[in-house]
Amino acid sequence: MIICPKCGMAKGVEADKKTTTCQCGREIDMKRVKLKFMTDSPLELADSVAQANAALMGGEPLPPEKKSRKKDPFYVIAERAKPVKDPIERMRVVARGLTDLKGDFGIEDVRKVVSVLGKDSAEDVLARLKEHNLIYESDVGVFRAV
Ligand SMILES: [Zn+2]
Repeated sequence: MIICPKCGMAKGVEADKKTTTCQCGREIDMKRVKLKFMTDSPLELADSVAQANAALMGGEPLPPEKKSRKKDPFYVIAERAKPVKDPIERMRVVARGLTDLKGDFGIEDVRKVVSVLGKDSAEDVLARLKEHNLIYESDVGVFRAV
C-alpha cells in the first residue's frame, strides 16, 4: 500500500509494479514513494487501504477532502498563521482571525486552529496571548483580540 504524493490517498498496489495511477490522475513512480504497508493477502490490503482512507477523511464520505478543509474557516486561519515566523506574531494572527470570524472566541476555537498548526497547545497559546496583552477576556472563557 502506498500514499499518493499528490492527493494523499492510500492505494493498494502490487509490489512488482513499477508505476501506478492514482484515482486523482497522478502517475506514481513506485520507486519514489514509501511503501506504507505490505501484505500477501489481497483482503488484508483492501482492508488497510479502506482504513487508511477512512482515517484520512475523518470518517466522512469523499470527495473532495482538500476542498472541504480549505473551506473550514479554522483551517484558513491556521494557513494564514503558518508562514509567520515570529511566534507571538503568529498567535496574534490566530487571535485576529478568530475575532474576525466569530467576534468572541473560546479555547475550543483556538484548539481547532492550533491542531492544524500542530505546535502549541490551545492553553499555551491563550496564556501567551494574554501575557502579551494581545487578547482580553470579555467574559469568562471568552476572548477577543485587542
Ligand atoms: Zn492521488
